[in-house]
Amino acid sequence: GLAERLQGTLNKIRGKGKVSEQDVKEMMREVRLALLEADVNFKVVKDFIARVKERAVGADVFESLTPGQQVIKIVNEELTALMGGEQSKIAVAPKSPTVVMMVGLQGAGKTTTTGKLANHLRKKHNRNPLMVAADIYRPAAIKQLETLGKQLNMPVFSMGDQVSPVEIAREALAKAKEEHNDYVLIDTAGRLHVDEDLMGELDEIKELAKPDEILLVVDAMTGQDAVNVAESFNERLGITGVVLTKLDGDTRGGAALSVKAVTDTPIKFAGMGEKVDQLEPFHPDRMASRILGMGDVLTLIEKAQTNVDEARAKELERKMRTNELTFDDFLEQLGQVRNMGPLDELLNMMPGAGKMKGLKNVQVDDKQIGQIEAIVRSMTKAEKEDPSILNASRRRRIAKGSGTSIQDVNRLIKQFGEMKKMMKQMSGMQQKGKKKKGGL
Ligand code: GDP
Ligand code: MG
Repeated sequence: GLAERLQGTLNKIRGKGKVSEQDVKEMMREVRLALLEADVNFKVVKDFIARVKERAVGADVFESLTPGQQVIKIVNEELTALMGGEQSKIAVAPKSPTVVMMVGLQGAGKTTTTGKLANHLRKKHNRNPLMVAADIYRPAAIKQLETLGKQLNMPVFSMGDQVSPVEIAREALAKAKEEHNDYVLIDTAGRLHVDEDLMGELDEIKELAKPDEILLVVDAMTGQDAVNVAESFNERLGITGVVLTKLDGDTRGGAALSVKAVTDTPIKFAGMGEKVDQLEPFHPDRMASRILGMGDVLTLIEKAQTNVDEARAKELERKMRTNELTFDDFLEQLGQVRNMGPLDELLNMMPGAGKMKGLKNVQVDDKQIGQIEAIVRSMTKAEKEDPSILNASRRRRIAKGSGTSIQDVNRLIKQFGEMKKMMKQMSGMQQKGKKKKGGL
């Protein structure tokens, strides 16, 4: 993920004390590459980097103990803002029914999404939508929507494929008034490419149905193409929102970023699979985390906030930075980490956790913590403060005193080194969490 790439750059700067503008530049280069790799539009990336850089240079990033975390935080916030910030809701017309037109290229997922949206409106908002089969060009399209209707036990309006889509829309609206449907979802035809025929027809339906919402359905897997499609549809038709489908695939979500930035219309829903219940309201912040590969950083920060005393954390932070961390600090930190919950779970929430878990010598088994405590308690003060004096005879003595084996002691000393690295990262995150709340 992007967070890991940034971490790599950070490792190079770590220990320098202060971070220079050049360092931030280097981090920004990583961000730029990662975004381009994720298929974000070039122009969007350029503007984005400029904004982040401006903030990073202006903020106290250089002075901060955790400049990397600060930069990641800024990147995360800007990514979220780029995708619209807040979650964007579907329109509700002041007078029923609310008319929603589903548009997009062939295969983008319009028909499937029409069914999903009907299901969502009923389940989550207690609405009673009518689905309208207005794609008369694909022989199977009408049938496909009718099948979805049967499956959901929800009404589908169709007039076969010999009536014009505009006529179908007109009749459907009349029907919806009769039946008191509060939403009308019009599933329109697509083409393989944007063409004037298609746009002309969609425009006619728009003129007649006066939709409250024109949702453009785009396939997230198509990356840059999705952006071009969105631009054309928006220019010609004026879309009010986007549904990004097939986000369950391995797409990095670059399209999501660019679509919003280029069309300035919010992404309202995300398709997460082929099934009717696999539609989710789109959350910009979650998408930003996904692009960053950050894991559930916010949850981790919240946990850390409630468990670590700020002054003590600062002191530990300083010690870690200056490499003064002792086995006593280690024990204390271990206790705090344990209070935060199962270590495995914590690791899962951390960026780069995969890599850390791969470390052979870091065993984060709760049971082992007891043993670790016994070993550390068998050390003298000098040993705890300077592990480098732990020669063979000292190690043998400690093993005896703690009722463990020499291998156990050796392993812990090795772990100590590796855990120090991990603690340093975790402490950085805690600092960041503390800063966020400010007052507390
Ligand atoms: P339309 O031509 O725009 O109406 O597209 P369809 O609704 O017929 O969908 C085209 C294909 O994409 C179908 O096989 C759908 O099952 C599939 N599809 C639609 N949305 C999603 C999604 O969110 N995830 C996945 N994996 N497949 C989807
Ligand atoms: Mg269709």
